Amino acid sequence: MAFEQVALIGLGLIASSISHAMRRAGMPARITGHARSAGTRAEAARLGLCEVRETAAEAARGADLVILCVPVGAMEAVAREIAPVLKAGAIVTDVGSVKGGVIAAVAPHLPETVRFIPGHPLAGTEHSGPASGFAELFDNRWCLLTPLPGTDPGALADLLGFWTALGARVDTMEPEHHDLVLAVTSHVPHLIAYTMVGVADDLRRVTASEVINYSAAGFRDFTRIAASDPVMWRDVFLNNREATLDILGRFTEELFALQRAVRTGDGAHLQEYFTRTRAIRRGIIEAGQDTSVPDFGRTPAARGH
Ligand code: NAP
Repeated sequence: MAFEQVALIGLGLIASSISHAMRRAGMPARITGHARSAGTRAEAARLGLCEVRETAAEAARGADLVILCVPVGAMEAVAREIAPVLKAGAIVTDVGSVKGGVIAAVAPHLPETVRFIPGHPLAGTEHSGPASGFAELFDNRWCLLTPLPGTDPGALADLLGFWTALGARVDTMEPEHHDLVLAVTSHVPHLIAYTMVGVADDLRRVTASEVINYSAAGFRDFTRIAASDPVMWRDVFLNNREATLDILGRFTEELFALQRAVRTGDGAHLQEYFTRTRAIRRGIIEAGQDTSVPDFGRTPAARGH
C-alpha cells in the first residue's frame, strides 16, 4: 500500500534521512513533521524536509504512517501526545535503538484502532540534527522490525515495503532478542569507546595535543564513535540495562583473560584470539556491511577519488 501522509516526529539524522530517501524513491506521500525546538523546526523547513508543524499532534493528525524519530527517553511523552489524534487504521512505528523499553513506553498509550510495529534501522552516523541526513543512509543496511503478538500481517507487509523502498533490507525479530543482539553489536561497543576516550582524557601524562596530534587509527576510530549524540546514548543505556550488563560482564571476563595473557607473555593465546577476531571482520565485509578499503572507505582518498 502506498502511504498518503507520513508523519515524522523528531527531525534529526534518522528522520531527515527518511525524508530524503522517500523523495529519492519517488514516494508520492505528503510528509508532515515536528521537532521540539523552534530552531530545529526552522532548519527542517529551510531544508524542505517536510511540512513542519508546531506540535507532534498536529504533525501526526491524518497520517497513515507515523514514525517516532525522537530519543528513546522521549518516546512515551510523544506517544501520549499524539494518541488522541491518530487516524484509525494508521501504522505507528519508531526507529529507536532499543525495543523492549520503547514498547513498554509507547504501546500502553496508543488506541486499539492503530497498528503499532516497532522498528530499528541499523544505520547511523555520529552526526545529529536535520542537516545531517542523506538519502543513502539506509542503502543495504538492515532494518529490524519487532512486531508484537497479533500484529496485522497486512500492516507488517506495508511497513516492510516502505523500508525496502528506502533501500534497506528488512528482517523481523523478537524485541528481547533485538536488545541482546544490539547490546553486542552496538551498545557495549559504544560504551567501550566512550570509556577509552575518557581514559585518554584523564591521562595527565598524555597531553591533549599529543592525543590529538598522534591519534592513531585505533584511538581515532574510538573518538568517532564517542562523538555520538550524548542524549541518544544516555537513553539507550537507561533503556537496555539488562542486556548491556549481561554483555559487559562477558566483556570484562574476556578482558581479564587477555590481561592475564599480556602479563604472563602468552603470545600463543593473543595470536589465536586476534586470528579469530580478524575472521569476524572478514565476515562483515563479505556480508556487505562494511568495506575493506583502508580507513574503512571513510575519506575520499581511501575511496580512491
Ligand atoms: P537526532 O539527530 O539527535 O534527532 C532527534 C530529534 O528528536 C530532534 O529533532 C529533536 O528535536 C527531537 N526531540 C528530542 N527530544 C524530544 C522531545 N522530548 N520531544 C520531541 N522531540 C524531541 O537523533 P537521531 O540520530 O535522528 O535519533 C533518533 C532516534 O533514532 C533515536 O531513538 C535513536 O535511538 C534512533 N537511532 C539513531 C541512530 C544513529 O546512529 N543516530 C541509528 C538508528 C536509530 P530538537 O532538535 O528540537 O531537540
